[in-house]
Amino acid sequence: MITLALSKGRIFDETLPLLKAAGIEVAEDPETSRKLILATSRPDVRVVLVRATDVPTYVQYGGADLGVAGRDVLLEHGGQGLYQPLDLRIAKCRMSVAARADFDYAAAVKQGSRVRVATKYTTVARDHFADKGVHVDLIKLYGSMELAPLTGLADAIVDLVSTGSTLKANHLVEVEQIMEISSRLVVNQAALKIKREPIRQLIDIFSNAIEKG
Ligand code: ATP
Ligand code: MG
Repeated sequence: MITLALSKGRIFDETLPLLKAAGIEVAEDPETSRKLILATSRPDVRVVLVRATDVPTYVQYGGADLGVAGRDVLLEHGGQGLYQPLDLRIAKCRMSVAARADFDYAAAVKQGSRVRVATKYTTVARDHFADKGVHVDLIKLYGSMELAPLTGLADAIVDLVSTGSTLKANHLVEVEQIMEISSRLVVNQAALKIKREPIRQLIDIFSNAIEKG
């Protein structure tokens, strides 16, 4: 049996075509089913649904053999115990610094003042601002980052941006791009040895499907 960990939403949706290329159809729709373990058209493959941030942990400890996780999530997790053979080029966005339109981020940086930054991505944010020599006080949040500058909790946020419409709706401006984000295939290192053939096959099929776009 091969167990694949996915999160509901865009990662699940955008992984489906890759699975299809491997002849794997998921038996149920996670949006309507309450099941957390989904059978597939291949008796030796099943999908488990976990929170996006839990995918690396499941795969690291062997709760799943494979998983699909965003670069953002993998950087925060650290990637220990994970083999990362493939950038799947799905769930693309970027990680950026955003601030209220009336906050002069460039001036604050130039003056060397401390900037209060709220984010769920404290590891990536800490590295980014350290590289740039920007002094920050980081405030860890678990969601709704856009609210922080609007309430005075923070001057700026580090968050994922795709179209920018969420920022715009909250009167925030993207002031710096940190990195491009997409989702990757992650594999448990022990599973790769024990189930080498079927896992290798999946990696090859996914890889070809991505190249065809
Ligand atoms: P949860 O909803 O369980 O709190 P989450 O918000 O991290 O978790 P999603 O919003 O489904 O879950 O995001 C999952 C992954 O998809 C992220 O880790 C990121 O890699 C990617 N992602 C997030 N937001 C966007 C976006 N706006 N556009 C494209 N990809 C995104
Ligand atoms: Mg979300």
